[in-house]
Amino acid sequence: MTLHPPLICRRCGRSPETKEPRARCPNCGGLLEYHYREDYLRGVKFTGPLSFWRYRPLLPRVENLISLGEGGTPLHHSRRLGEALGLEKLYLKDESQNPTNSFRDRCASLIVSNAVDLGYDTLVAATTGNLGASLAAYSARADLSCNLIVPRAVDMGKLAQMIAYDASIEEQGKSIDEAVEHAERLGRETGWYQASFELNPLGVEALKTIAFEIYEQIGIPDWVVAPMGSGGTIYALWKGFKELRTSGRADSTPRLIGVQAEGCSPIVGAFLKDEDRPLEIEEARTRALAIRVRRPAYGEVALEALRESGGAAVPIGDGEMLRMEMQLAQLEGIFAEPASSATVASLRVLLEKGVLDPSETVVCLITSSGLKTTDILNTLSKRRKSLGLGYRLATKEKILRAIEGGRTYGYDLWRRMGKRMTLGAIYQHLSELESRGLITSYQEGKRRYFELTTRGRNVLRALEELKSLL
Ligand SMILES: [Zn+2]
Repeated sequence: MTLHPPLICRRCGRSPETKEPRARCPNCGGLLEYHYREDYLRGVKFTGPLSFWRYRPLLPRVENLISLGEGGTPLHHSRRLGEALGLEKLYLKDESQNPTNSFRDRCASLIVSNAVDLGYDTLVAATTGNLGASLAAYSARADLSCNLIVPRAVDMGKLAQMIAYDASIEEQGKSIDEAVEHAERLGRETGWYQASFELNPLGVEALKTIAFEIYEQIGIPDWVVAPMGSGGTIYALWKGFKELRTSGRADSTPRLIGVQAEGCSPIVGAFLKDEDRPLEIEEARTRALAIRVRRPAYGEVALEALRESGGAAVPIGDGEMLRMEMQLAQLEGIFAEPASSATVASLRVLLEKGVLDPSETVVCLITSSGLKTTDILNTLSKRRKSLGLGYRLATKEKILRAIEGGRTYGYDLWRRMGKRMTLGAIYQHLSELESRGLITSYQEGKRRYFELTTRGRNVLRALEELKSLL
């Protein structure tokens, strides 16, 4: 079977004889890339609704489509968060809307379809979590056995998905780097289909469709921001935008911004030091597990993409990611994982430095849902707001104290309570207090005034007594 389009080595230019997709050239070890000829790109038409498979003519050929409804994700104009940051045209590409809540569903759909085409019944992949959850789901749909190699630290929600979709899971090493080595060896020894993102070039082809969708949703933006682990996402976006330009559809390309965690930034570090290869990292220190990669497989091509596009690279601390995560949820209703909120956090830095102009159009890639991550779930459950007895009691006590200082009326009380509850809720409390004989009320002109009764005064004093015992 000849591959369409051909896989060509970026280093030696040769095209290997291979039926299976593979990421590395057997001759020189260079990165293999699917190459579309310009005349082919110019003739391609997108058909059907906005979805992953709308771009089928620009994906390597598959016959059996294994789909769960991936792609076609919303691009939100982020008005409130944009205003908070000082950006008028901030957009969020919300990939958490995919079937298993991450952008990796695009990869899994294409990869599992290819595995079925080639007649495999078992696949193996190394994963930090999201790809594993996706592959497990699509394998279940296609009746394939799914073997996943994960590092020791994996996000709880992603692991739960892998288990639910009935994948076999093996722990290997401290970071994804060891897991990739193990998956490669296993694939070779068993003859299973190799689905690791670092070892299968279909993953990159699948992710470039995000660039196609952004283009169809708002045209070519000034900037696109993405998190970097292996560097494959930035590389894929760049490939997508370049294909749009070569095909004659778009007449420009966006500048790309790559973001990594401060405690694990081999690509950002190399970019800032003007080096061509990712820096050597001894130990990865970040709780953003999705981008905890010490030896990024697509590091060199990611650096190339950032530079060619005239882009930038930013390291973000874990604390800042978490703060932005909350802001993103509270201002836009989007609950993203830390690696994704890091993209938005980088904008503040770039605006301060003057790299970004407030009038420019910026798209941040929200790769996956915050519901999947252990760290966030633990932090949030500690932070839960309680509406228990104590809270309601405190409110009634505050109202009594406000009235103790002299007669007052409903609207005045509401204002003095800081307008944190509705006016209706204030009147509800007043009516309850009055029915218990703690306050009394009378009409004067248009207003109804409230005063403390002797019983009310006694209750306040009793509360003081009780508190002095605590
Ligand atoms: Zn080569």
